[in-house]
Amino acid sequence: MSNTDTPDHAATATTAPAPLSNSGGSRVVVAACPSYSPDAVEAALTEVLDALGGLETLVKPGQTVLIKPNLLCPRRPEEAVTTHPELVRQMIRMCVKAGAARIWVGDSPAGLHAEKDLWSRTDMTTAVEGTPAELKSWDTKQTPVPCGDDLLAVPEWFTQVDVVISLPKLKTHSLTTMTCALKNVFGITSGLAKSKFHAKYPSPLTMSTFLVGVFAALRPHVSIVDAVTVMEGLGPANGRPRPLGVLLASRDAVALDAVACAPLRIPPASVPMIRLAAARGLGEMDLSRIECTGTGVPQLNATRMKPSLARYLRYIPEPMFRVTTRLFQLRPRIQERQCVKCGICAGVCPRHAIATQPRSGYPAVNPKECIVCFCCMESCPRGAIAVQLYLGSMVRLAQRVGKVVSPQ
Ligand code: SF4
Ligand code: SF4
Repeated sequence: MSNTDTPDHAATATTAPAPLSNSGGSRVVVAACPSYSPDAVEAALTEVLDALGGLETLVKPGQTVLIKPNLLCPRRPEEAVTTHPELVRQMIRMCVKAGAARIWVGDSPAGLHAEKDLWSRTDMTTAVEGTPAELKSWDTKQTPVPCGDDLLAVPEWFTQVDVVISLPKLKTHSLTTMTCALKNVFGITSGLAKSKFHAKYPSPLTMSTFLVGVFAALRPHVSIVDAVTVMEGLGPANGRPRPLGVLLASRDAVALDAVACAPLRIPPASVPMIRLAAARGLGEMDLSRIECTGTGVPQLNATRMKPSLARYLRYIPEPMFRVTTRLFQLRPRIQERQCVKCGICAGVCPRHAIATQPRSGYPAVNPKECIVCFCCMESCPRGAIAVQLYLGSMVRLAQRVGKVVSPQ
């Protein structure tokens, strides 16, 4: 990576870095990785990094590296909500070999979770055990990063990071269709501020536009996607784990997300984040201009993931989003059998639409205030919040109407 291509994180506190150049073309490597066994992950990671020129072209001796997995909330690795610890562990080993002086691991979850609980349930504690890597806290002094009209807050230590290695989890997403390389960067911003942005940008299109701005401000040097087991259906927190058996990697996160659309059977341009990021020159989404190689390509193309609720929501015309979701009674539903009454969902709700019921102690959603941002679902450590969709047939009607009103 040339100097002009290198995101300067020390500079982000005052100004956003220039977009990555794609003049050399975009390359995505897909390696077969049939399981999370150490040998399988090491082999797949070696394949993708070698194909991208070797880790030593990214990490120089003496540098500080941030390994940024997706740690959405404290859920077990087998639930496929978070990046698997074996990928983090193998990545740490390779950074040690490359001579990194400091290796930091971390992510800011959705909602106010105790970091020790987050690290322990996601097995990040085990991932760093016996290595020189350090789990970094977001509960520390923050520094501002400009992002359009907004100011993001990131931990002050982030300005000391030389290289960011993003390790997203491939999942469906009810608002943004999918979460992969582009969206993983949002986790660098701190805590509850994330849900406030959900309130400010409540529709799929406005949120996607904002997320592309976040990516432009905080983009990583390389993204390596955990798609060994992915999440399909009601992602990013309530879907079903599904084996896919690959790792994907690229320095171009837009190209990576475009290639990752294959198992969803959707064109990259139908995902607002990908379309908007490509339009801003942040990467390549045209599959005919992306060089895609690796032992996992056949497996990626042969797999079919069930889509999320976004397959309906994307057809709702932008100005009608709020009124339509209300009309269709789309809202979160607390599943009391799974709920442990921790109150995290109420704390994360940017509209204060969740209150504890005085008699039962369970949370309840006020539908008049709910903007269907899905923050509560993403933050629930027990997966106890589902989507209520009584009027499913009307949603399908919206899909048909939307096709007429705003064809994409
Ligand atoms: S639904 Fe229950 S378990 Fe989930 S965050 Fe809310 S209070 Fe906690
Ligand atoms: S109750 Fe509604 S507004 Fe509040 S976090 Fe959940 S989805 Fe968002």
